[in-house]
Amino acid sequence: MTNVIKAIRGMNDILPDEAYQWHFFEQTVQDWLAMYGYRNIRTPIVELTDLFVRSIGEVTDIVEKEMYSFVDHLNDDKLALRPEGTASCVRAVIEHNLLYGSPQRLYYSGPMFRHERPQKGRYRQFHQVGVEALGFSGPDIDAELIIMSARLWQMLGISGLRLEIGTLGNAESRALHRTRLIKYFKQHVEHLDDDASRRLHTNPLRILDSKNPKMQAVIENAPRLIDDLDEESLIHFEAVQHILRDQGISFEINPRLVRGLDYYNRTVFEWITDKLGAQGAVCAGGRYDGLIEQVGGKPAPACGFAMGVERLLALMQECGKVFPEAVPDIYIVHQGNEATAYAWKTAEHLRNANCRVILHCGGGSFKSQMKKADASGARFAAIIGDDEASTQQVTLKALREFSDQTRVDLNAVCELVQTRT
Ligand code: ATP
Ligand code: MG
Repeated sequence: MTNVIKAIRGMNDILPDEAYQWHFFEQTVQDWLAMYGYRNIRTPIVELTDLFVRSIGEVTDIVEKEMYSFVDHLNDDKLALRPEGTASCVRAVIEHNLLYGSPQRLYYSGPMFRHERPQKGRYRQFHQVGVEALGFSGPDIDAELIIMSARLWQMLGISGLRLEIGTLGNAESRALHRTRLIKYFKQHVEHLDDDASRRLHTNPLRILDSKNPKMQAVIENAPRLIDDLDEESLIHFEAVQHILRDQGISFEINPRLVRGLDYYNRTVFEWITDKLGAQGAVCAGGRYDGLIEQVGGKPAPACGFAMGVERLLALMQECGKVFPEAVPDIYIVHQGNEATAYAWKTAEHLRNANCRVILHCGGGSFKSQMKKADASGARFAAIIGDDEASTQQVTLKALREFSDQTRVDLNAVCELVQTRT
């Protein structure tokens, strides 16, 4: 026997029983984005590796350890599967000059790729919906992004999410903080693990994000960025908080909120759940005022966030948010030459009237066809024999409730189907 080829570890098939939950999610997300005037942008899944190195940062987990990068042997291009969507979005906005006239409210969605250790809520191909507001500098847009995400949780039936916010200040305050951090960690170098020692001079801020339990104490006592903040960033942060309070959004300030990507400044935030174990972050983002210039565009401020679709779907399930799959309206069973020809016509006729119809294929007795009709979940079976064909009618049987079979014409079938909820 030949070896069975399986999917790649950490990359999941989404089977029909699950896919309809994805459809509900996607539909809800689209309605929600339309409410706030965000427009879709679609970029390729593969980009030049350099785009991600330059934007996410050379000394980050994503670029150092998680990115699927490879050489295209046909032309020696260095390419990568996108590990996130912001860099591509910014690249496209610059390339097509979208910020020329006015700021842009945009969103993207689709698969992202990171070579992480697969576990519940952490996959190598996962899906994100990302929302980006480019060309806006004020705290109002930071607040809009947070407030709109709160509405989405409501629309998805999710409760119990915690909002953490923080600020990373401007480039100068981060530089000052960096110097202080390096000084502090140098004094405690014996407590640093290999990763942290290596990053001490390249990216000390990332040390704060370490999950190593042995380093928690030294991290806990490290200088806090919030104490090094510049005045303008503080005012900006206050203004964001003011709008959130005004709109009744509760939050906690987390002075240690460090995002895993280098491009963030000022406001950062995360929505976190306790219901999914270690993989608790379902949505994260912040301001990235320097990124557009860094990728080669004219300097422009921006802010955005991305959410993890798999984690949100898991959370919806935890919150008991399950919805019925759309079932077929009618399953047509048929036997006899005249009957089968009429069944084909009937099926198309009903579909013209927007009915969801399954036409039995593969023959078999009425009894075995009725079993399939029942298993299909359809509300009705339409039974067509040569008798029905000769009178241009069908025998209708309700499958989900008790009722007599009735011989009806097609208009009556259409009317019945219109009563579906
Ligand atoms: P984490 O701390 O869990 O690794 P992250 O900070 O790396 O998350 P971001 O880059 O901010 O995540 O991506 C935004 C969201 O995408 C996360 O909050 C999470 O919901 C989701 N996400 C990130 N990585 C994965 C993954 N490997 N599998 C599934 N979802 C993911
Ligand atoms: Mg990560």
